[in-house]
Amino acid sequence: KVRVRFAPSPTGALHIGGVRTALYNYLFAKKLGGKMLLRIEDTDQTRFVPGAEEYILESLRWVGIPIDEGLEQGGPHAPYRQSERKHIYQKYARQLLDTGKAYYAFDTPEELEEMRERLKAAKVATPQYNAITRAQMKNSLTLSEAEVKEKLSSGAPYVIRLKVPRKEEVRLNDLIRGWVMVHSSAIDDKVLMKSDGMPTYHLANVVDDHLMEITHVIRGEEWLPSAPLHVLLYQAFGWEDTMPQFAHLPLLLKPDGNGKLSKRDADQMGFPIFPLDWNGMDYKTGEQTFSQGYREAGYLPEALINFLALLGWNPGTQQELFTIDELVEAFSIERVGKAGVKFDINKAKWFNQQYLRTKPDSELVQYLQGALKENNISCTEEKALKIVQLMKERVTFPKEIWADQTYFFQAPATYDQLVIQSKWNPEVAGLIAEFKEGLQNVNELNAEFAKNTLQSVLDKHGVKIGKVLQALRVVITGVSTGPDLMQTMEIIGKQETITRLEIALA
Ligand code: GLU
Repeated sequence: KVRVRFAPSPTGALHIGGVRTALYNYLFAKKLGGKMLLRIEDTDQTRFVPGAEEYILESLRWVGIPIDEGLEQGGPHAPYRQSERKHIYQKYARQLLDTGKAYYAFDTPEELEEMRERLKAAKVATPQYNAITRAQMKNSLTLSEAEVKEKLSSGAPYVIRLKVPRKEEVRLNDLIRGWVMVHSSAIDDKVLMKSDGMPTYHLANVVDDHLMEITHVIRGEEWLPSAPLHVLLYQAFGWEDTMPQFAHLPLLLKPDGNGKLSKRDADQMGFPIFPLDWNGMDYKTGEQTFSQGYREAGYLPEALINFLALLGWNPGTQQELFTIDELVEAFSIERVGKAGVKFDINKAKWFNQQYLRTKPDSELVQYLQGALKENNISCTEEKALKIVQLMKERVTFPKEIWADQTYFFQAPATYDQLVIQSKWNPEVAGLIAEFKEGLQNVNELNAEFAKNTLQSVLDKHGVKIGKVLQALRVVITGVSTGPDLMQTMEIIGKQETITRLEIALA
């Protein structure tokens, strides 16, 4: 039975890459009739950020990735928050000590620093605590049993390290990358238990994946370097037979493909990197920061999901639009590439546009009326519906339906001067004045009547529409582009249209 997990650390807002990881886990599990669990990896207390855990849960809810087991759902392996599982990791660390796979180390920070300096001076490329150097350090492999006992009972600080075998080939068969091989001499004796009694990520992650019966570990490429160590841990515990399979997802790259996508790039280029607005602490600086999220920027969750699904996976067909159920159906880990994927925000916008078009008018009317109310603009339902129908196909984000077309509600405060200078002249003004007179002959203005009235004025003078249309648009709306002008006048209404023309002609 397939079991996967999404295991974020609550160190801040969930990055969009994290959402993709959660999505691929979900698609993989659902496709194979398996389960997905959510585990919070919060053992690093120095990086704990208040609100981050709630943020992660809310983000998954908003994008629509359901979780089978986890903090809120419970499940057979509760608790799902690592800080509540300390006693479990202690037990397993002890098991490794008892079987000689791990050892106590008592080195002070100064001694560790001294070792690094010594190795650097000897031109060792990457100084590490390993099979060679541990022989010179203060640990339970070099001290006598009595000394170790004494240190432990005197309360001297210690860590527990994995005893990495000296000469071994460590291999794993990554579902995306194929065989990955690393020599154990390249792996240091990683700390498993810190001096504060908390496990490190590596220990807690492996113990939990084992206990929670995880069959597939699907996570970002940044964890690939840790995977051989995890394999060694499974071996140290004697859990090789049930070791999960690994799949490391390709990196998300900057839009130009030059390096990993970062929050800084996103900020600079003006697109969100987080699913929801984030107003919280940055654990590195301790400062409060704000970033806009996809939700608040006006992205629809279905559009974001569709976009993320194709960032690394390809269906092998031309199909681009997928509902989440269609994604489940089509997904396979074999079709996930290993090369980094360029992040193209224009593609995300395109998806948003596609999904916005499929929304029922009534939903958008409701949205529009809510937004207008917040801005103290009144609008009848009939008018809102006309605006929605006119704008729906033209916008990328719901807010553009009104925010960029305030002329539906109020007369323009300024005119596009470029158009006025090039298109407004006494002849055009005369034609527009005649058009305005023609509008008086109807009770309720509609697009058809406006069009016919304008046409008859033009015919009378033998003038082409191109001569007046732009000027007419600018005096009605203030701007040089927009939806159909006749429809726009219908929405604005007879009286207001005439008033605007009079202001321009005065
Ligand atoms: N807690 C790790 C993270 O924040 C999880 C890595 C993994 O999936 O093993 O990404």
